[in-house]
Amino acid sequence: MKRRDFIINSALAIGGAALLSGCGQKEIKKAEKEVVKRTFAGKDFPLIALGCMRLPMLDGRIDMAELDKMVEYAMMHGANYFDTAYMYVEGKSENAIGEILKQYPRESFMLADKCPAYLVNSKSDVVKLFNEQLKKCQVDYFDNYMVHNINKDTIKNYRDNDMYGEIMKLKKEGRVKNVGFSFHGDPDMLREVIKEHKWDFCQLQLNYLDWEVMNADELYSIADEAKLPVIVMEPLRGGGLCNLPEKAAAKLKESCPDDTQASFGLRWVSSKSRVFTILSGMSNFRQLKENVDTFTNFREFTQEELKLAADITRIIQSQGAINCTACRYCMEVCPRGINIPAIFGLYNVYKSNGNGFMFKVNYEALKESERADKCINCHLCSKNCPQGLDIPALLKRVESALARAK
Ligand code: SF4
Ligand code: SF4
Repeated sequence: MKRRDFIINSALAIGGAALLSGCGQKEIKKAEKEVVKRTFAGKDFPLIALGCMRLPMLDGRIDMAELDKMVEYAMMHGANYFDTAYMYVEGKSENAIGEILKQYPRESFMLADKCPAYLVNSKSDVVKLFNEQLKKCQVDYFDNYMVHNINKDTIKNYRDNDMYGEIMKLKKEGRVKNVGFSFHGDPDMLREVIKEHKWDFCQLQLNYLDWEVMNADELYSIADEAKLPVIVMEPLRGGGLCNLPEKAAAKLKESCPDDTQASFGLRWVSSKSRVFTILSGMSNFRQLKENVDTFTNFREFTQEELKLAADITRIIQSQGAINCTACRYCMEVCPRGINIPAIFGLYNVYKSNGNGFMFKVNYEALKESERADKCINCHLCSKNCPQGLDIPALLKRVESALARAK
């Protein structure tokens, strides 16, 4: 059996057992240059960090060998903050990142996890879930721990079960260093949540597209006014800002030849001074290396570039793309297994390049059971969508575009 096959099969088949060599002592060969850091809670945090929602996959499983290589490169370059969650990668993300990180001394990395508010029906659920998460990650504390995804549907659970109070008890025990929340609600709700408790930080969706077309500018201003440190999620909108429409891509190339689409989007986020870490859900070593290199050879975002980002946003908007970040939260509740992010992704590519033939070919490559026409209009998916998309209506839009595409 090849090493890669061994790691994949053993690490995921025997959940949580000690599998990789090493026991917290893997040597970290420090690179000459590290990624830029920002200070939070008296510690240096890397400005770029690995979000573990879109881990590398191979044959339908997490590619542990690729993840091992990614983590090693990140650690060498001081990008030593990792963010996971209970539900990521169908519940397998925590096991996977824990399995890799256990090779390193605990004090050499920082790990964030989140309590899934939608699963909390009593105060005791918080501790029960927390203990399960520590075990899956093979650690005895989390550096950052959050109430996950506060929004209009989860806020009741968060309040009724005093999730903040329960997590604060864990902080007092030293099992959590900093307490925060990730957020997908509206500005009024954010104001309320910030006022309710003394949080250490918040995690917001922030990128140059959402700044103009959603309410990211307002959400950021609210956190900024409250002097609440910010971690950023979806800085590239689920990869959407790395697949710019051709006209926007050409404009960026002409104005910023030294940037890739990813580095431009990440540098834009870095221009917000309240932000101390940017999470990017990287899916392979190439993406990780590119992002780490952006922050080891860091260039500040300029006023000119801010104007360029606004121009690019206008071009993207004019294409009529669907604002899906491919987070897959909808997939967890869809009774029919419709491949919503893949369908929206294909539609967005079509809106960007106008190639109707390839739109149809790629759509027909999806399993029949995963296609839009199998939707039964139950709306369960929309309730789970952090972007507030009316998914059944958008699936209909995709179907009519397919019927017209040439
Ligand atoms: S509305 Fe359609 S896509 Fe959404 S959960 Fe129901 S069946 Fe799935
Ligand atoms: S439709 Fe919404 S929930 Fe589904 S993948 Fe896209 S952004 Fe996520």
